[in-house]
Amino acid sequence: MSGPRPVRAPRGTELSARGWQQEAALRMLQNNLDPEVAEHPDKLVVYGGTGKAARDWRSFDAMVRTLQTLKQDETMLVQSGRPVGVMQTHEWAPRVLIANSNLVGDWANWEEFRRLEALGLTMYGQMTAGSWIYIGTQGILQGTYETFAAVAAKRFGGTLAGTITLTAGLGGMGGAQPLAVTMNDGVAICIDCDPRAIERRIEHRYLDVKADSLDHALQLATEARDARRPLSIGVLGNAAELVPQLLAMNAPIDIVTDQTSAHDPLAYLPLGIDFGDMASYAAEKPADFTRRARESMAKHVEAMVGFQDAGAEVFDYGNSIRGEAQLAGYERAFAFPGFVPAYIRPLFCEGKGPFRWAALSGDPKDIAATDRAILDLFPENESLARWIKMAGERVHFQGLPARICWLGYGERDRAGERFNDMVASGELSAPVVIGRDHLDCGSVASPYRETEAMLDGSDAIADWPLLNAMVNVASGASWVSLHHGGGVGMGRSIHAGQVTVADGTPLAGEKIRRVLTNDPGMGVIRHVDAGYDIAESVAADRGVRIPMREG
Ligand code: NAD
Repeated sequence: MSGPRPVRAPRGTELSARGWQQEAALRMLQNNLDPEVAEHPDKLVVYGGTGKAARDWRSFDAMVRTLQTLKQDETMLVQSGRPVGVMQTHEWAPRVLIANSNLVGDWANWEEFRRLEALGLTMYGQMTAGSWIYIGTQGILQGTYETFAAVAAKRFGGTLAGTITLTAGLGGMGGAQPLAVTMNDGVAICIDCDPRAIERRIEHRYLDVKADSLDHALQLATEARDARRPLSIGVLGNAAELVPQLLAMNAPIDIVTDQTSAHDPLAYLPLGIDFGDMASYAAEKPADFTRRARESMAKHVEAMVGFQDAGAEVFDYGNSIRGEAQLAGYERAFAFPGFVPAYIRPLFCEGKGPFRWAALSGDPKDIAATDRAILDLFPENESLARWIKMAGERVHFQGLPARICWLGYGERDRAGERFNDMVASGELSAPVVIGRDHLDCGSVASPYRETEAMLDGSDAIADWPLLNAMVNVASGASWVSLHHGGGVGMGRSIHAGQVTVADGTPLAGEKIRRVLTNDPGMGVIRHVDAGYDIAESVAADRGVRIPMREG
């Protein structure tokens, strides 16, 4: 009988599938569930509350078995984590097509989703969990680093030195926050109610120390701030209690955000519940739990707004906490902005986003070689160089060695083609997979996050991620996914992903050139369509065709 067991992707060049495209999907599925990578591998949960890689262990086994025998002209279809068919296609077609957590509009809420999930009919795929391109906390680290760098540029003269950031949530994604703040030379106080999350981040060197109490955390923070010394401090507790407490103490906080799993009210610890009782309470009384979690989030958000009123830089970090607080009746929940309109959108206009790759060899030397290639390809980009060097020194690999950096239109294809050449020449010891987060410039509709406050009001138009998935299929990606609900929860987002394998063949080179041009190209055209000047000039300079601007 199939059940929980440790999973780890094979390394090296020996294939257990019929080709590298299938082998890559197989290894990345397994890699997502590697205990070094996944937050709760025994439950098939990769990150983001309940984001899963497979619906159940039987489905996992069936996907492994199918990928091992899948031919070069076949495509496996995955419906919310379960393989439901194999169809004959052709060699340019993706080897896997994935649709996760999609529900028809009027039914797209957590209640209906959970009813269907309990019947075994669906699963929550988050973004890169169910599409097999999660690379551990590093995946979010660079984006978080860039966001805090943008905060520093906007408010603090280009550095976080001498400032204190307050946040909560040290999970798979939120765990990147402390390191991103210290990489920008700041001090961070990070609250989490799960002692394991704090220990794990210390073990992985994302978090520096754990404080014994809130007072202790403040003392450590102010000392480090005064010495302009970067330091990240974990503190155990409920953010809905500790953030208001810090506000009442007039704590000298400069920046406030949050990355608890607020998008899923069953994953946010309500006030008055012990962490140890959280799972059973959520399972036994989901409606009660949801109501109390939302009320607690309202208190949490109210304190964040209080910090904003007191002059701090406050932003929502993409977890929907404002929406949940509003549902609990807190009227000023949207007093602070989301991080995308505040800091990230200009990058999206250039087709920039979280480009990432993983070495199927398992050899960190392959990533070091690709790092050198990136530095060589983009010598003029100083912040990219700073990131690549710091990442090489400070990022702990989880599972297969991987790297992320934000690249734009006209850059991703160059990097991808170089990697493919490096596989062909033997400079890399095995193929690499090239993918990205679904949080990208042209792949997501998410009115509380990536598409919040679009210039033309098109926040909720979801044609764009559908077009994105279709153009990636048409361009030759190795696997393509279309999800609902990632990041911000059911009913609030629709998003697409692609992964393309650089196996060193000329065919892979052709596919990479198209996919890695057209995929970020979606970001450029989406933002031209919404009326952003930067996107207009990128399209004009780099030759992106926009029919409505022609003729
Ligand atoms: P996770 O489930 O791995 O971690 C969440 C953490 O929050 C856990 O460690 C949990 O113990 C803690 N927590 C829950 N309730 C708490 C409370 N009341 N007080 C203190 N701690 C509490 O989730 P994750 O992968 O780290 O993602 C966190 C959130 O960020 C999600 O909502 C996710 O959708 C969102 N997210 C944002 C971005 C972004 O771009 N900013 C990217 C990915 C995910």
